[in-house]
Amino acid sequence: MLNKWNEHIYYLSHDEKQERPVLGLVCGEKYSLIIDGGNSPQHAQEFLREIEKLSIPPIRYLVITHAHWDHFLGANEYDATIIMNRRTHQKWKKWQLDSLTDASLQQLVDQQLINEYAMKAIQENLINDPLFQLRDPDIIFDETLKIDLGHKICQIDTVSSTHTNDSTIVYLEDDELIFLGDCAYGKTRNSLFHYEQQMLNPMIEDIQKYQAKYFLLGHESICDLAEMDLYWKELQIANKAVKSTSLEEAMIHFEKEFKRKANENETFFIQAFVNDQILKQH
Ligand SMILES: [Zn+2]
Repeated sequence: MLNKWNEHIYYLSHDEKQERPVLGLVCGEKYSLIIDGGNSPQHAQEFLREIEKLSIPPIRYLVITHAHWDHFLGANEYDATIIMNRRTHQKWKKWQLDSLTDASLQQLVDQQLINEYAMKAIQENLINDPLFQLRDPDIIFDETLKIDLGHKICQIDTVSSTHTNDSTIVYLEDDELIFLGDCAYGKTRNSLFHYEQQMLNPMIEDIQKYQAKYFLLGHESICDLAEMDLYWKELQIANKAVKSTSLEEAMIHFEKEFKRKANENETFFIQAFVNDQILKQH
């Protein structure tokens, strides 16, 4: 579903059944900018069909928030200048070596760029298309980039993240809204879902520097400042309780320090930080 946030900002809702993240659209007076390319050509085409119904300035830019397949495999469908940070580009290049045949997808699994589950989802969307070749990006930036769409400034920044080391956000100062991509999520390695302990506070500091009141994560509906602050708080206190690979010890620390039992979210985060400690030992 295409949502209109205000005169300048639209977004296509995420759809977890189809592995589809949020796609954003920002419109200035002269140009429009897309945030994330979609998980497949079909996903991008559906978004473009919705956009065609609007009377907005032409799409000039596409920003990729990070190099996870569900955010970029639709990128070829846009007649736009593709923007990404340098680290995203390094990962992107690994997807350009071959067309996405079963064999090349298996190579990506072997390199741990995707898991088996993602491979199956990609195969369902791009079944051995011999012509599929991910195109080159046009603008590669290091830390920060400002794009003026005509009385609409998009601030495009690389941020610290517990999800990837190549996260980009798009901040719209006038709208007090920030597109976060997946940056505030954890990640899975060796089948263990974890949040990187050392990245948590740098990430929160990076994101709290913006004067945003509304936050759009890659796989959620829009949330406000109070919801975002609660998310940060639960993550931070869970993080504080984890000092070893023992979940039991962490739960004891938590109760001692906060004089109550951890709630469901906090328990989930504690487990994820414990998993991080376990992965660090290997
Ligand atoms: Zn991601």
